[in-house]
Amino acid sequence: MLIDLHVHTNASDGIYPPAQVVNMAAQSGISVLAVADHDTVNGIDEAIAAASARDLMLVPAVEINCYSGDIEHHILGYFIDHRDEGLRSALAKLQEARIERMHVVISKLSKIGISLTPEEILSLAEKGVVGRPHIAQAMVRKGYSASVRAAFDNYLGEGKPAYAPRSKLDPTEAIRIIKEAGGLPVLAHPGLWGGDELIPKLAEWGIVGLEAYSPDHKKAQVRHYLEIARDLNLIATGGSDFHGWGDAHSIKIGRVSTPPEEFARLQELYYIRKCKV
Ligand SMILES: [Zn+2]
Ligand SMILES: [Zn+2]
Repeated sequence: MLIDLHVHTNASDGIYPPAQVVNMAAQSGISVLAVADHDTVNGIDEAIAAASARDLMLVPAVEINCYSGDIEHHILGYFIDHRDEGLRSALAKLQEARIERMHVVISKLSKIGISLTPEEILSLAEKGVVGRPHIAQAMVRKGYSASVRAAFDNYLGEGKPAYAPRSKLDPTEAIRIIKEAGGLPVLAHPGLWGGDELIPKLAEWGIVGLEAYSPDHKKAQVRHYLEIARDLNLIATGGSDFHGWGDAHSIKIGRVSTPPEEFARLQELYYIRKCKV
């Protein structure tokens, strides 16, 4: 049973529309799929409609970026009520911050002779959540960079000439946004940026799981995070973080899966909390 609890669509920085991602998942034999776009739930309705035509369970989700000082965290929110007004307005604020950041990057690029307009970038972010991959794609289109990866390596990545930091949301805020929409907060790919010493704090603030199984983790890291999950009584989830980016290193949907018994714990917790409301 394949349970991929972390995929992206073109509602944020994935390549494929939600319905296509769901179809790809069904064809890959996935039974449970969580669409978890960055800072948006705009792809969820289309994904649910596509999943209902297939034998596939769709978990509405979101992935919110936040920071503890310089350490970045991505917090996944599972089983969120994606129609919740509070959630939608909180996410709209995060999207405004993304637009502001895009303008800063555009002006930094123009100082080094790279000319892009906001429209050229926004047209690539079809459902409105703009990110650096869209800026990189616009650079490739206009011949400023050979590839998205090269654009990050030479211009957009941290420490590079057009790098602009994101506005920094606190993890307590990200967790609050998810919980208020009835969702279950889970720390995504904890091995990507380190800061393991912060995990007990995050658990205190309300994360219920750790994404121990991730393409970003080596085998030893998976074991390490499974241990932390066990010690803190957190659910150990997994997902492919599929974006559909087509290069040699691209990640296949369903390549990383959540163990069914861990997914059952997540479902159980969702039902318990829902019944209390
Ligand atoms: Zn992430
Ligand atoms: Zn992700």
